[in-house]
Amino acid sequence: RFDVLVVGGGPAGATAAVYAARKGIRTGVAAERFGGQVLDTMAIENFISVPYTEGPKLAAALEQHVREYEVEILNLQKAVKLVPGADIVEVEFANGASLRSKTVILATGARWRQMNVPGEDAYRNKGVAYCPHCDGPLFKGKRVAVIGGGNSGVEAAIDLAGIVAHVTLIEFDSALRADDVLQRKLKSLPNVTILTSAKTTEVLGDGQKVSGLVYENRNTGDSVKVELEGIFVQIGLLPNTEWLKGAVELSPRGEIVVDAHGQTSVPGVFAAGDCTTVPYKQIVIALGEGAKASLSAFDHLIRSSAP
Ligand code: FAD
Repeated sequence: RFDVLVVGGGPAGATAAVYAARKGIRTGVAAERFGGQVLDTMAIENFISVPYTEGPKLAAALEQHVREYEVEILNLQKAVKLVPGADIVEVEFANGASLRSKTVILATGARWRQMNVPGEDAYRNKGVAYCPHCDGPLFKGKRVAVIGGGNSGVEAAIDLAGIVAHVTLIEFDSALRADDVLQRKLKSLPNVTILTSAKTTEVLGDGQKVSGLVYENRNTGDSVKVELEGIFVQIGLLPNTEWLKGAVELSPRGEIVVDAHGQTSVPGVFAAGDCTTVPYKQIVIALGEGAKASLSAFDHLIRSSAP
């Protein structure tokens, strides 16, 4: 039985575990894949105080830091159910096991929705990117496309237009879905081309990196090739919270609703990082939120009557 059980081993979960363990309380981390999204990242240039690092290196450092403390790490464990109770919360796993803890910190992160077209996988991190805040500066002076005309796509296109040479925004529907104010801003920019009714069908590359893309004009059925160096896919970020439906309050987007302390709708259950309603999904933000949720869990423990 744990005092704090963290579910998820990305930046948020690792930080929550370190903060809990440093209070001398019984701490466990159960993760499907320790390291989280960081494992899928190459260059990281916005982990402040470390001008450059790489995903696998940072993931190893996160794990090493957790291992400095007495934390029980259960890797390759997928949580499938959360069962809240009066003083004890139970988490059930895909392998049939279950763990009990006085408090639980949910830090299961999120995943980017993919286009699922040929070339996308092969050129991920070689021109195919998902995070303009992270990778925008890598395309300084180059040509990029943004896939998706919702708020995140249009925001990304506006952001990138200030850095890169040219942005082509590609929207599947016949109209952009972003807020009017964003659409007006986008349309005022000189180096942006907006394509609607356009379905991206292939990512092209030279074997090393992205060299273009192909889209289908959905009005005419024609296939059109665009030459460029980068593609930012902005068609949705999916929180890994399907297993929590009905157990904790989720936003319409499936994000765990938390207050300023990382408290969820269930007493004793806290959440941090990309799986929550906290805006801007970034490593430094996930780290800070993980620390906050952990301190809140500790506060809950010292205030609760259970010995
Ligand atoms: P995650 O990193 O998603 O970790 C979630 C953890 O929960 C994982 O261990 C996962 O296995 C586990 N998990 C999920 N579901 C379950 C379950 N049911 N049971 C048990 N465990 C579960 N951010 C930056 O700041 N800078 C960058 O340069 C940058 N580049 C990026 C590049 C790419 C390609 C991607 C995909 C993301 C990038 N990000 C970057 C975003 C950053 O990686 C995330 O904001 C950050 O990792 C979020 O941390 P987290 O701990 O909330 O979630």
